[in-house]
Amino acid sequence: MSTESSLRADIVEVGRRMYARGYTASNDGNISVRLGPDRLLMTPKGVCKGFMSPDMMCVTDLEGRKLQGDRDPSTEMLMHLEVYRQRPDVQAVVHAHPPIATGFAVAGIPLDRAVLAEVLTTLGSIPIAEYATPSTTELPKAVRKYIKAHDGMLLANHGALTVGGDLFAAYFKMETIEHFAKISLVARLLGRENLIAREEVLRLQELRGSYGINAPAPICADPPDGADAGSGTRGDDRSDEIATCQVVQAPAGGGMRLVPNLLDACEPIPATQGHEETEIRLTYRELSALIEEAVRSLR
Ligand SMILES: [Zn+2]
Repeated sequence: MSTESSLRADIVEVGRRMYARGYTASNDGNISVRLGPDRLLMTPKGVCKGFMSPDMMCVTDLEGRKLQGDRDPSTEMLMHLEVYRQRPDVQAVVHAHPPIATGFAVAGIPLDRAVLAEVLTTLGSIPIAEYATPSTTELPKAVRKYIKAHDGMLLANHGALTVGGDLFAAYFKMETIEHFAKISLVARLLGRENLIAREEVLRLQELRGSYGINAPAPICADPPDGADAGSGTRGDDRSDEIATCQVVQAPAGGGMRLVPNLLDACEPIPATQGHEETEIRLTYRELSALIEEAVRSLR
């Protein structure tokens, strides 16, 4: 069991890393850990997370009453309290505004496509909680929809939230989300995003057990079996239903591309238009003859 002093030091260290990596600017972001069954240790409001000291932290109960500390707790305390209420297994909560992931949250694009094995095994999918005014009771309500089934989510037009069995587990999930967002952005800029097939996604899910990964809910594929692509309801964000599984977009049997293949869509320029230098077309026989000739000249 971690002592209070080491947990205070861990919060300082995680805040420093978040600020150094550009996940927060100015006084953004907040961090909390469980100190006991009904006590939390939380970053104070109005401080830069890159320059905190252990004595700055607040101790609160699960109702948000301050028990100890010179400063007031984070303005996003209500969101943290909601997570601890909904998830008795969670020991730490991290909130930040990592710019690429937040860009997806602003664009309304969830990180829910089956593209990276390590993201599927750890977080499954990363949905977007509906927009809510920061620091109000709206934000815990928006988070409630996904927190039982997810250890990480985007917050629409705001940032990202991660939770874990200890503080560093929660922080590393924030790193994973931002890293995944960067890779997804690059793939989409390149014009191709090949998805991992549903069968492979289910195989990866099996690995969670052998790697000892405690995911809060299983992965479920979208579209569901028997439904057409795009008509799945489990990934429908407009529903008020509490999410019970991690909805991942994965095609049955492979071969589906959600992003059009821009490279294949480019029409080759016909040689007759005087652009011979742009493309050379050879029949198989002509190509074979050229290769044979090249091989002969090497002997
Ligand atoms: Zn925020």
